[in-house]
Amino acid sequence: MKRKGIIIVVSGFSGAGKGTIMKALTAKYDQYALSISATTRDPRPGEENGREYFFVSNEEFEKLIKEDGLIEHAGYVNHYYGTPRKFVEDKLNAGIDVILEIEIQGALQIKEQYKDAVLLFVMPPSAEELEKRLRGRGTESDEVIRQRLQTACKEAVGIENYDYIVVNDVLEDAVERVHGIISAAHGTPDRNMEFIENMRKQLNDVAGNE
Ligand code: ADP
Ligand code: 5GP
Repeated sequence: MKRKGIIIVVSGFSGAGKGTIMKALTAKYDQYALSISATTRDPRPGEENGREYFFVSNEEFEKLIKEDGLIEHAGYVNHYYGTPRKFVEDKLNAGIDVILEIEIQGALQIKEQYKDAVLLFVMPPSAEELEKRLRGRGTESDEVIRQRLQTACKEAVGIENYDYIVVNDVLEDAVERVHGIISAAHGTPDRNMEFIENMRKQLNDVAGNE
């Protein structure tokens, strides 16, 4: 039976640990493809063009939108972010699960277009721990951290649009939970209609029905 690829959307407050979970998940399980987004924000120290993101200018980003090269895009704290179409569609067609680590406006655009996408929302164990992680990461100024915490307040209102929450307390547990949710999603009847129809046909044959 050919397994169909699923889009898995992973959202969560900045600093909740999405990137850390994705890194550990893809290191442990090699069947997942991680989409690389385009963004107009500057690279952080250690980030490389084409690895964490495709870092592009505003003009390049607008060109991508115009050419329908993105399956979703959104503005987040003064910058644009978007998911390139080709990579996602190629992987899905090849039966590979694709993970999109994107914010909430983009997640809703994906749910509209890809009805069987699975939406996960990563939460820290507490708001205090979130602030600690954001500060501990040491990649943003106090002002940007403040803006990101403000954005988190707004994002918290939209959590009910997601299919699952994942609490990232112990990293390894969060990784296993994400893997478990994706594995379970592959077992739903709507994602296995070809197998089910085939079984019905076989049963009728075995039972001698016309
Ligand atoms: P996000 O991608 O959601 O913005 P990151 O993956 O960059 O968040 O994580 C934010 C910070 O929190 C990083 O410094 C990371 O090392 C730390 N972190 C992530 N997961 C955990 C965890 N389970 N326990 C403690 N610290 C964590
Ligand atoms: P960061 O600047 O911390 O890398 O990302 C900021 C926010 O943008 C995060 O919530 C991240 O998930 C989101 N993001 C990253 N890529 C995309 C994308 O392609 N589309 C959308 N909608 N959000 C994205």
